[in-house]
Amino acid sequence: MSQANELLLPARATICEVAPRDGFQAEKEWIPTEQKVRIVRELAKTGIRYMEITSFVHPKAIPQLKDAEEVVRQVQDLPGIHFRALVPNVKGAQRAIDAGLKKLKLMLSATDSHSLANANCRVEEALEGLYPIVELAAKHGVQVGGSISVAFGCPYEGNVPVERIMHIVERYQAMGVNEVSLADTTGMANPKQVYEMLGQLKAHFPQITFSMHLHNTRGMALANAVAALQQGITHFDSSVAGLGGCPYAPGATGNIATEDLVHAFAEMGVETGINLDAIINVAKDVRETLGHDGGSYMLQAGPCSQLHRKPQGQVKLET
Ligand code: ZN
Repeated sequence: MSQANELLLPARATICEVAPRDGFQAEKEWIPTEQKVRIVRELAKTGIRYMEITSFVHPKAIPQLKDAEEVVRQVQDLPGIHFRALVPNVKGAQRAIDAGLKKLKLMLSATDSHSLANANCRVEEALEGLYPIVELAAKHGVQVGGSISVAFGCPYEGNVPVERIMHIVERYQAMGVNEVSLADTTGMANPKQVYEMLGQLKAHFPQITFSMHLHNTRGMALANAVAALQQGITHFDSSVAGLGGCPYAPGATGNIATEDLVHAFAEMGVETGINLDAIINVAKDVRETLGHDGGSYMLQAGPCSQLHRKPQGQVKLET
C-alpha cells in the first residue's frame, strides 16, 4: 500500500471498562453485590487493566451503587487492575479514599442546564467545588482525573461551543488535573465534530491527556472513536454488553460496547490487550444476568473472523 493511501492510527489504545459504574447505575432492578463483584472479576480475566468500579454518590441519588464500599472491598485482591471511582463531591471522595481507591474521577457538566439537572448547581459553582476534592486527593497521594459530561452536545441546550470546553479544560489544568475525559453523555457527537474539536484541544493543551467516553445513542460512537484515533487519542471508556446511560438525561442509553470497540480496534490493527473471545463471553454472561444488553454488535453478529460455513448450493439474493 502506498503511504498516501494509508490511514495512520495509533498502534495501541487503552480501554477503561465502565460497566460497573456507568452500566450498573442505569439498571433499575437491584443487582446483588455478589453479582456485581462476579462480573468485575470476570472482566479482570479478559486483559482489561483499567476499570471504573463504582460511583461514591449519595445512596439516595443512585441506590444501585449504595454498595460501593463493599464492591471495592471484594475486588481489592485482583492483581494489576487500576481501579478508579467517580466522585461527585468531597464526601464521596473521602469515602472512595477510605475504601482504598488510588484514583478518583471528577464529575462536571459542560452546560449549566445539565449541571443543574445532574449536580444541582451551575458549572462555575461546580468547578469551585472540585478544588477541595483535588486537595484531599493530593493529601492522600491519590490520582485525580477530570471529566466533562455533554461535551459534544447537551440534551437541554444543544450545541456546546468548543470555547466552553476550552475554558473548562483550562480550569482543570489550573487545578493540576492533567487528564480529562470528554463524555458524549447522550450520543450527540459526530465524527467530524470529534476530529475537529480534539484537534483544537490538543493544539491548545499539549500537556493534557484526553480520553473519550462515548455513548452509542445514535449509532455514531464507533465512528467517533475512529475520529479520535485519527487525532492520536489512545484512551477510551467502554462498557461490556453496551450497558449504560445517564440517569439524568432521558432516553440516553448505551455506552459503546467494550467488545465492539476491542473488535473494531483489532480489525484496524490497534492493540488493546483485551482478549476478544473472553470479553464477548463476559458480555453474554452480563446479558444473561441482567436479562438484556445495552446494544452490542458482537452479541448480535459475532466477530468478522467467525466465518460462515461455505454454502453448498447457490446463495440467493445476498447483496
Ligand atoms: Zn456515560
